[in-house]
Amino acid sequence: MHKGKADGIHRLGYALVRGKAGRELVYVQKGFGHLLNSTVLRLAIYTAYRGERKRYRGYEMAHVALVGGGLAGTECAWQLAKSGIEVTLYEMKPGKRSEAHSEDGLAELICSNSFRATGPAAAIGLLKEEMSSLGSLIMEAAFATQVPAGGALAVDRTLFSEYITDKIENHEKITVVHQEILTLDAEELQGHDAVIIAAGPLASAELAESLMAAVGDERLYFYDAIAPIISRDSVDFDKAFWGSRWKPEDDDYLNCPMSEDEYKAFVAALIAGEKVQPRDFEKEIHFEGCLPVEAMAERGEMTLAFGPLKPVGFVDPKTGERPFAIVQLRTENKDKTAFNLVGFQTKLKYPEQKRVFRMIPGLEQAEFLRLGSIHRNTYVNAPQALDETLQLKNRPGFYLAGQITGVEGYLESAACGLWLGLSLGYRVNGIVIAEPPVETALGALLGHLRTVPDKRFQPSNVNFGLMPGLKKKMKKKLRKEAYGVRAQEAFGTWIEAVGLKK
Ligand SMILES: Cc1cc2nc3c(=O)[nH]c(=O)nc-3n(C[C@H](O)[C@H](O)[C@H](O)COP(=O)(O)OP(=O)(O)OC[C@H]3O[C@@H](n4cnc5c(N)ncnc54)[C@H](O)[C@@H]3O)c2cc1C
Repeated sequence: MHKGKADGIHRLGYALVRGKAGRELVYVQKGFGHLLNSTVLRLAIYTAYRGERKRYRGYEMAHVALVGGGLAGTECAWQLAKSGIEVTLYEMKPGKRSEAHSEDGLAELICSNSFRATGPAAAIGLLKEEMSSLGSLIMEAAFATQVPAGGALAVDRTLFSEYITDKIENHEKITVVHQEILTLDAEELQGHDAVIIAAGPLASAELAESLMAAVGDERLYFYDAIAPIISRDSVDFDKAFWGSRWKPEDDDYLNCPMSEDEYKAFVAALIAGEKVQPRDFEKEIHFEGCLPVEAMAERGEMTLAFGPLKPVGFVDPKTGERPFAIVQLRTENKDKTAFNLVGFQTKLKYPEQKRVFRMIPGLEQAEFLRLGSIHRNTYVNAPQALDETLQLKNRPGFYLAGQITGVEGYLESAACGLWLGLSLGYRVNGIVIAEPPVETALGALLGHLRTVPDKRFQPSNVNFGLMPGLKKKMKKKLRKEAYGVRAQEAFGTWIEAVGLKK
């Protein structure tokens, strides 16, 4: 290429990349992701990344202490060890176990043995592909211990845990110590170049308290109450209308009006619907002020109509009248492609959620991007507590990985650990790896940890609602495929540009 042109492209890429990100991280996705298809930008990004490679002399990081040998911790340890870093992995089992862990091995699957869907038409399928491309130990183990499960990837949980335990325990750079770490100031953690906490959603109480002291008590949560999220394209706009209470011009909310008959049938279905039984250690959750929607319904037929479903301030533009009740849907992302059902944290079983919530007028065909739940879950308010390298803002040198950061799910936790291990490992060798763009599954998941901190941060699994919306309106199947194609392209460009392609 002509030198002047190449320099221009380099400068363009450098300006785009550096200008957006400052000295440390590269955020191509913020503002420029939609240009990813442009050849010039690809080249620019590529040259800019190459520029980054030369600029860092590397960190002094020879020895890392890692707390928690679950999905995130083992994956993170593996990635660090691949970069030549010595890792001491503290795992409290078998001496002490959380309420849900029962086995002795590392990377224990505490509930389902499924890693959910495969294939690029599902965000979790894309995440699997991306993790495999980045050399994930969890994915390697999953394929090695796979059991038949239709379109899903499920494993023999015992073999899976044994596979990982064997790999971790026999890696020359990793030392596993079976011991509980009680605080961030524990003697065992002193003298390391970095400390990683991957103690999971059921982190032991003393450690969680110490973490709370570090981040501030308003930034550490002990349970989550998650309402379902649905895709905007699946809403019937002949029934639903825009507007917030007293403000019909507001387009941050969508509203599904209900007649008296519809409301009463819905309340009856909520009460009759099959629920997930809380485990003993989760029973206190409901007293902490966040009732499941079905528990409110049980208090009286009109409780919801006077609570989250109250119609005051609304006029249905189709009838010119106030509806009997209203279900509000609040926008979940900038592009308004995903909406959550306000006040609908729930313990209904997943198939029941789909059946019952599709009774809401306008949501008969709802596509659920995420289903609701309420469970014990220790996690930080990531946008406030963590910087962009997953380091505690109030405690430099201490990083978080896995579900405790606010990602949700086995693979999401492992992916978070993978990214932290990989990026720290490269830094030691003087290379700053730009994050994958937000059009990819991993980039979208990491992006979730940076969502604007003005609303209460909620954990999330990976889903298409975390990615920028598509410009064109399409049928559900085609839309999923389009997300998949775009993600694969973006990931392909990125992995080549940052030099991680095998
Ligand atoms: C009850 C429950 C059921 C779940 N079911 C599913 C499911 O079916 N599918 C799904 O995708 N996700 C599920 N999740 C969500 C979540 O993805 C998993 O919990 C996942 O294992 C999280 O990975 P992690 O590495 O962050 O934590 P974990 O896998 O829990 O690993 C944390 C490790 O840290 C250890 N540890 C904790 N405290 C200390 C300490 N102080 N010192 C040393 N070691 C410590 C623990 O013993 C554990 O081995 C569930 C969560 C819960 C709470």
